[in-house]
Amino acid sequence: MNAIPLTLLDTPNPSATSPAASRHAKREADKLGKRLRHQVGKAIADFGMIEEGDKVMVCLSGGKDSYTLLDVLLQLQKKAPVRFSITAVNLDQKQPGFPEHILPEYLASIGVDYHIIEQDTYSVVSRVIPEGKTMCSLCSRLRRGALYTYAEAHGFTKIALGHHRDDLVNTFFLNLFFHAKISGMPPKLLSDDGKHVVIRPLAYVAEADIEAYAAHKGFPIIPCNLCGSQENLQRAQVKKMLRQWERETPGRIETISRALADIRPSQLSDGKLFDFLALGSRSDALPDAHAWLAGGDKPQA
Ligand code: SF4
Repeated sequence: MNAIPLTLLDTPNPSATSPAASRHAKREADKLGKRLRHQVGKAIADFGMIEEGDKVMVCLSGGKDSYTLLDVLLQLQKKAPVRFSITAVNLDQKQPGFPEHILPEYLASIGVDYHIIEQDTYSVVSRVIPEGKTMCSLCSRLRRGALYTYAEAHGFTKIALGHHRDDLVNTFFLNLFFHAKISGMPPKLLSDDGKHVVIRPLAYVAEADIEAYAAHKGFPIIPCNLCGSQENLQRAQVKKMLRQWERETPGRIETISRALADIRPSQLSDGKLFDFLALGSRSDALPDAHAWLAGGDKPQA
């Protein structure tokens, strides 16, 4: 399903506030909200993300993605077939200029259980990374560490992150172009130490829809560039490429996203996933790799 054009749901345009225009905007907003709930519900069901009794920690950065995630999960929680709790957790990394009152005020206003962890990872990152280099990778690692530690200490059974469909596709191409592997950002995963189940309920949601939804809801967005760090160049390149593809061929990102859920190992070349050696073989003997490598020219005895 293609994402909704942002302009349809943008903050009211003074020249278009006629009753008919307002009704249209409301209808579009309702449709978008319904689509997001449907896509998030489907991802939760498809990947078994949430089960009875789960304690879900929603990581909230103050960006449009995590606000949307929290908002939609809270709506689904009311009608979900299982009971689960939601706690919003933000890590205040002490970046200069971080408006620390915004999230507590917003979270208190919607009445959700929340906690703000305060940890000065910013000083660590700015000390370790040379000036002018991107800090995001170390910053994210430290953030993840702090959030996982908190989740373990407080018995959360699921950690929900706000990555969306376009992030998943983006990561796939980053790995393809720069790391020579077919791998991405899965909707559900076990952390490397085996202690945490991480879920990405926005895995089917288009970034453009999230932008429209966040604008419509008026979330108090906190930009993630207060520290002045530039985005990783490779990631920025891939994003630019995808945006251009989408402009030229609308719907392409959705097609790629669907392809990530329809892998055919026998049509690729990874012998670890598909036993090409056994395919059509008439004997159990393995090919003589050395002889084949030598072009069949075995040294004469
Ligand atoms: S922009 Fe700044 S705060 Fe955001 S991830 Fe990068 S280094 Fe961290």
